[in-house]
Amino acid sequence: MAANRDTETKGNGQGGLGDVQETEIESNWDEVTDSFDEMKLKTDLLRGIYAYGFERPSAIQQRAIMPVVKGRDVIAQAQSGTGKTATFSVSILQSIDVGIKETQALILAPTRELAQQIQKVVIALGDYMSVDCHACVGGTNVREDAKRLEAGAQVVVGTPGRVFDMIKRGILRTKEIKMFVLDEADEMLSRGFKDQIYDVFQQLPSTIQVVLLSATMPTDVLEVTKSFMREPIRILVKRDELTLEGIKQFYVAVEKEEWKFDTLCDLYETVTITQAVIFCNTRRKVDWLTDKMTARQFTVSAMHGEMTQQDREVIMKEFRSGSSRVLITTDLLARGIDVQQVSLVINYDLPSNKENYIHRIGRGGRFGRKGVAINFVTQEDVRMLREIEQFYNTQIEEMPMNIADLV
Ligand code: ADP
Repeated sequence: MAANRDTETKGNGQGGLGDVQETEIESNWDEVTDSFDEMKLKTDLLRGIYAYGFERPSAIQQRAIMPVVKGRDVIAQAQSGTGKTATFSVSILQSIDVGIKETQALILAPTRELAQQIQKVVIALGDYMSVDCHACVGGTNVREDAKRLEAGAQVVVGTPGRVFDMIKRGILRTKEIKMFVLDEADEMLSRGFKDQIYDVFQQLPSTIQVVLLSATMPTDVLEVTKSFMREPIRILVKRDELTLEGIKQFYVAVEKEEWKFDTLCDLYETVTITQAVIFCNTRRKVDWLTDKMTARQFTVSAMHGEMTQQDREVIMKEFRSGSSRVLITTDLLARGIDVQQVSLVINYDLPSNKENYIHRIGRGGRFGRKGVAINFVTQEDVRMLREIEQFYNTQIEEMPMNIADLV
């Protein structure tokens, strides 16, 4: 069933994302508004922004909020952790009429966790606006979901399967939807999700404004956007500017797969200095590694798409609160998840897709913080590592002895 699928089973290595592109499509927008005051936002929204702790808009917020508010279609690319969520959340909150109890903005995200995180940001920024924002995601109680939607939430953020289901049943009413936002847009338009996105899109009014965001925007995805966006404003980042200076990248040469485990155990103390995310390429490997670490008396938690929604929510809550510090997971959590305390990312397995490399390491070093990424590299992985270095024009150096001092 579509509603149960998640990013783990999708984008990875599909659709040729990550192939070296010859021609880069360029930005066509450089207007900047460098304070929230100058954006002439509603007073209640401005209050919410400052109360949330934001003082100045980030680079992407300075560039993208105004064109979205003005109703333009926008493709907004910016590095991980630089504030894309608030970019579209502020724009939406500025554009909706809270006096109307109908859905006016629809946001789709690739995972339930990300949709729920976005909902929290919209609610927090809209704290003084009495706005209703509902997270419409798979794995939750359908009846409860329907009740919330029927009551009319001005902003709905969800995963494609459940959202489409609710639209088809006439429970999520689309007539007043003015804005359609795809977060992690390249993932959403990749092979695994594309059809579902088009299904939803077709149910929306033909005048819909479309906004796409992601840290990665491969050329083939930009090409597809031509078919459903109107003269979009493009704010893009060149590939060699995608890695963040604050994130130091290292590799550990483990030679053989079997040696990864001991390497991780040796690193455990370093890992627990901070909060860390450890990525494996399959759900089974996540379970296996979790069991092995636990058997050795290391405390870790695990998360992947085969777990029940309830378990997923508990694990996320524990990790966000800091009560669990080491999370072993799949690409399910590669994109979008914002836990500010995470400063270490370990690729137990190298990702099979180059875009996800940048998303994974971007789980650390949020909003200018420092971060460290460590890649376990077997002999077979060496080539992929070099390709990643070349692709992003970055250096991945051998992990130094004093790694604990760096995290
Ligand atoms: P992205 O979607 O670009 O990966 P997020 O939207 O998750 O990044 O934002 C990363 C972090 O930066 C979040 O914790 C968010 O609260 C914070 N942040 C975003 N915009 C600002 C801002 N203008 N000032 C301070 N912090 C911000």
